[in-house]
Amino acid sequence: MAEIVLKQVEKTYGNVTAVHPLDLHIRDGELTVFVGPSGCGKSTTLRMVAGLEDTSAGQILIGGKDVTRLEPKDRNIAMVFQNYALYPHKTVYENLAFALRMRGQERAQIEQRVQWAAQMLGMESLLQRKPRQLSGGQMQRVALGRALVREPDVFLLDEPLSNLDAKLRLRMRDEIARLHRALKTNMIYVTHDQVEAMTLGDRIVVMKDGRIQQVGAPLEVYDRP
Ligand code: ADP
Ligand code: ADP
Repeated sequence: MAEIVLKQVEKTYGNVTAVHPLDLHIRDGELTVFVGPSGCGKSTTLRMVAGLEDTSAGQILIGGKDVTRLEPKDRNIAMVFQNYALYPHKTVYENLAFALRMRGQERAQIEQRVQWAAQMLGMESLLQRKPRQLSGGQMQRVALGRALVREPDVFLLDEPLSNLDAKLRLRMRDEIARLHRALKTNMIYVTHDQVEAMTLGDRIVVMKDGRIQQVGAPLEVYDRP
């Protein structure tokens, strides 16, 4: 677990400002949702937290440590994408084990972590399959599992359910909420869907035109229907 502090974080591309200087304090163990229309800067902000994008200005602290200039691998952050980004030729087991192998973990420990993640996500029976033998929902489970095995301080999810049909989206949304309750890890979840934001978020950050418009609990941000 780690709190995240953004101080005057800004991102420009040439003369386009994608994210205006913003301040944000994300408390330990919360599920924070960034919501807003396409192009408002949600993804750019998330990618800066992940270290996949440099900040143009400002500072990012994770657990009190300045990570602004650190590589993604040195931030202990896991990110889940809309398009899953699985290794197509590896089994589910290998997809989950890969990052741990790269870190030189022992086989027994890797196996234990993979089994644990598979169990958390109810996919023990899928471990020998290749991604092409999986449904969209199963692929997204594997993507979540791959993030999970690494025991990240922070979990970042960028529109993770956008490629799923409505029914599956509901199921996976509950699954993510359950995962968050079980792990109590900091999660930042990006979506353009207000209903998703409202049902998932402990706190909601509403963005518009590269700025934070509002921050609060769901009922502070949205009126009751
Ligand atoms: P969101 O995630 O809310 O849809 P983004 O963070 O992806 O928004 O984009 C914010 C703004 O930054 C948009 O205007 C987008 O066009 C611009 N942008 C994002 N990435 C780049 C890039 N690599 N080069 C130039 N402009 C970009
Ligand atoms: P290596 O010999 O490359 O170190 P392992 O012995 O860890 O690999 O695993 C070999 C293959 O067996 C993996 O590709 C994986 O698909 C499968 N495997 C290993 N352990 C398990 C397990 N506990 N559950 C399911 N599949 C496993």
